[in-house]
Amino acid sequence: MDPSDVSTPMFDRIGGEIIEMATTLSDHEYHAARAGNLSVRISSDLVVCTRHRADKGKLTLNDLIICNLQGDGVAGGGKPSSEIGMHLACYRVRPDVSAVIHAHPPTATGFAAASTRLDQVTLPELVVWLGPIGFVPYATPGSSELADLVEQYIGSHDALLLENHGALTVGQDLRQAAERMDLVEHSARVTLVVRQLGKVFSLSPAESEELLEIRRRVDRAPPVFPLSSAGR
Ligand SMILES: [Zn+2]
Repeated sequence: MDPSDVSTPMFDRIGGEIIEMATTLSDHEYHAARAGNLSVRISSDLVVCTRHRADKGKLTLNDLIICNLQGDGVAGGGKPSSEIGMHLACYRVRPDVSAVIHAHPPTATGFAAASTRLDQVTLPELVVWLGPIGFVPYATPGSSELADLVEQYIGSHDALLLENHGALTVGQDLRQAAERMDLVEHSARVTLVVRQLGKVFSLSPAESEELLEIRRRVDRAPPVFPLSSAGR
């Protein structure tokens, strides 16, 4: 699709959704100091993404850029986010995905900074609605190495913890990607409390597999790696 084919009403509608979601995520303190970025796929070869260093709490339509799948801005002012490579990797690997959010939710980012995985799920709802959170080894933010790593992991996960960095979620639309970001942060908070209480009560492999089967049915989720289990 030629960017000139993107009608003003369509751009305004999608832009409005991005602005509303970015404001909500900023209110949750997921986008401290202009960090993070959002994108929405609008055709087979174009996405709308946030501008590099845009303030996610005060976004306007001028902070949104239409870019192609090579990451080149084709309409709108300024440069796409430096982390657009991660977003494009998700769209390449997951035809079912139409929205990507990268953020730094405080508790989940604490786990990322401590190089501590969030794949030990103890709550059935998290397994069904989110699935295992992939753990992506550290690479420099904005680098092609990080985009390549995301490409490796996103085929089998809807949410990734990026070591020493933050989190990334995908969805059929922005709302689903945002709900998954909330679930990542919720998972981190619950895991932190569980560790403070000093006892990990993981689901057994059989219980986890039963929940993952529900997930495959209700959410048409991608194939997933087994959850880790610490035993009881
Ligand atoms: Zn980042």
